[in-house]
Amino acid sequence: MDKAVAKTLAEAAAKAMAKAAAEAAARAMASTVANAPHHVFQRAFIRNHSSSRPRRAVLRWYRSRSRVTRTIHGLPRMKEGRQEARLMNPFSTTTPGVMPAPPRRWPQTGYPAMLTATVAWHVVILAGWLLKPAAWPWWLAAIFVNHAIFTVTGLLPRTSLLGPNWTRLPAGKHNADALALTIDDGPDPVVTPQVLDLLDAFEVRATFFCIGANVQRYPALAREIVARGHALENHSQVHVHTFSVTLPHALTREIEAAQRTLEAASGARPMFFRAPAGLRNIFLEPVLRKLDLRLATWTRRGYDTRERDPQVVARRLLDGLAARDILLLHDGNAALTADGKPVILEVLPRVINAARRQRLRFVTLREARVDA
Ligand SMILES: [Zn+2]
Repeated sequence: MDKAVAKTLAEAAAKAMAKAAAEAAARAMASTVANAPHHVFQRAFIRNHSSSRPRRAVLRWYRSRSRVTRTIHGLPRMKEGRQEARLMNPFSTTTPGVMPAPPRRWPQTGYPAMLTATVAWHVVILAGWLLKPAAWPWWLAAIFVNHAIFTVTGLLPRTSLLGPNWTRLPAGKHNADALALTIDDGPDPVVTPQVLDLLDAFEVRATFFCIGANVQRYPALAREIVARGHALENHSQVHVHTFSVTLPHALTREIEAAQRTLEAASGARPMFFRAPAGLRNIFLEPVLRKLDLRLATWTRRGYDTRERDPQVVARRLLDGLAARDILLLHDGNAALTADGKPVILEVLPRVINAARRQRLRFVTLREARVDA
């Protein structure tokens, strides 16, 4: 009798312990899931999961997207007997895979010296490591030094060590009295129209390095830039500050997206690329080569996204002004003067008048190409 009672008690205790352990494990699991680093969409989904209305909206949005994607790509229907929506008329556009590549406008360049040197350096280090594994701290240090060198180089916008880079207009007779005005980060719905009117009044043509996302929001402004005789060039799709630590695949996606956005909005295919903040890495040049773009930086910049004094900005741009200079101003992210006016609007007339006193004429970067 005592034995049976003891057995029942022992079983009950074991059950309770197992239940407590299972609950603890479930709690631990839940907290791990909650604290795990999530993708931004996963986080949004988890956040919306608790309330049913936004969740329904998210699901509806997702389903509509997947339906459109399937339709465009002609993917097979999901289930037997359930016909998915298909376009009835033939496609008016071809898929990117079969679109003929447009003719190249830039000659194929060799790989940048620093990329070749880096690859050679790694081969030598690998061979050394295999031959003398005991000296591994030295081999590791050698790799570190190499990475430090090309990382620092990427922080120097005007260097050509990472590939061809326009810091001035090409030498040649037809650029002997030429000057280029480049305007970054637009289009901006408030500043860009005023800049365009100002340039019209002075009969000056400029090069606008536009951000793809801004062009998507204001396509009419991108069209207007081109319609008024200016050049529209690629300044990346979203202007991320992590651009210089982006790997080749993502670099291609980012620059190609801007290329498509700008061309779709304006009808003109960009020929030049300028990196966000001028910062880049060793992988950029092969990507630009593939996309038939040339990197362009500047001779001088006014730092007019931070400097509010137009006199200071104008002095930075005009100090030592000479033919073939490339000047940089901003219509997007423009700083405001003390009386609330975008700095570029105050600086442009001063720069244009100073250039005219030196008998310099303004050209777009495209016009300055030697074979243009
Ligand atoms: Zn920029």
